[in-house]
Amino acid sequence: MQDFVFRELARRGFTMDRFAMDRAAIEAHPGGSPWSEQHSTAPIVVGIHHPRAETGRSLILQSHLDVVPEGPRALWQHAPFEAEIVGDWMYGRGAADMKAGAAANLCALDALRRIGFQPAATVYVQSVVEEESTGNGALMTHLRGYRADAVLIPEPEEEKLVRANAGVIWFQIEVQGLPVHVREMGAGANAIDAAYRVIGELRGLEADWNARKAMHEHFRDDPHPINLNIGKIEGGDWASSVPAWCRIDCRIAIYPGVDAEDAAAEIRARVEAFARGDAYFANNPPRITFNGFRAQGYVLEPGSDAEAALERAHRAATGAALERFMTPAYLDTRVYALYDRVPALCYGPISRNIHGFDECVSLASVKRITQAMALFIAEWCGLEEVA
Ligand SMILES: [Zn+2]
Repeated sequence: MQDFVFRELARRGFTMDRFAMDRAAIEAHPGGSPWSEQHSTAPIVVGIHHPRAETGRSLILQSHLDVVPEGPRALWQHAPFEAEIVGDWMYGRGAADMKAGAAANLCALDALRRIGFQPAATVYVQSVVEEESTGNGALMTHLRGYRADAVLIPEPEEEKLVRANAGVIWFQIEVQGLPVHVREMGAGANAIDAAYRVIGELRGLEADWNARKAMHEHFRDDPHPINLNIGKIEGGDWASSVPAWCRIDCRIAIYPGVDAEDAAAEIRARVEAFARGDAYFANNPPRITFNGFRAQGYVLEPGSDAEAALERAHRAATGAALERFMTPAYLDTRVYALYDRVPALCYGPISRNIHGFDECVSLASVKRITQAMALFIAEWCGLEEVA
């Protein structure tokens, strides 16, 4: 996919850059997430448009090409990787999250070119990976030195602008059991049963974090802004042995302004305190590993020129006022909001079932937001005639 994007950008005359993730630099940065064996080794691709005369404001257009697993195929009505179109909807894993936005980044610039114009400012089209598991791809473009006056990431946001967004932490907990034959089960310790006790404690942590929502302006009206997901469980070897091991993979959200490092330390302390008070865990403490996202949330500060320009562009393209909302999940825009401190706009098409079965994107909506993006680029960067 990155090779495809590289060729598409090169064919359009962009100055090309392709580079690997720098693990040491990423892990040394406060916004870097820990590595795991599953970490992508795909390159990051950036295409740079240089104007003849730099008269406007520069812009980063970013998309991520990684997708989440499709899950059991039998639960899809439409094939997950065939890009089937039924009526207005294109189906497929990643169709909405976010191949549609990746295409919009290119097509908004193509649209301007078709009427004889190009941005009168430097535009970086950045294609990254690792958005769904660490956020390290976006951070790598920052570490590579790419900076602009504003950033636009067309994630599937229902034609709305993201005002605030949660951070995310991933962790894995390993519980050891004591394996015995089931006929003397009382003498052993069942790692799967024990893992359930840890999950119970984590649900308590989740409840405590939700109870703090009143302190967070954009989150207090959400009934349950902090979601803990027990995303994966593995354990045991077969039905007639008391399981000696169990592993759970977890994801939890954090509020903007909460340091991801502090939140991770709180999770660790909570699990350790629980273990000390538990007859079995006191001598066999569960092991906790941070194996993915360790990313902070952000708030898009209201009142920027970039937001006003997008608002005008959205109104011109759709005839409707631009709505803002909070999304309690990770977004790459956090890199630019937190570490570049520039307006980071997350705005994109209408979708259904992202991360679920029969993910799909509205093609009419993709056209509308692409038009809004082209108008936004025209105002933000200014235009010059194509030579
Ligand atoms: Zn996405």
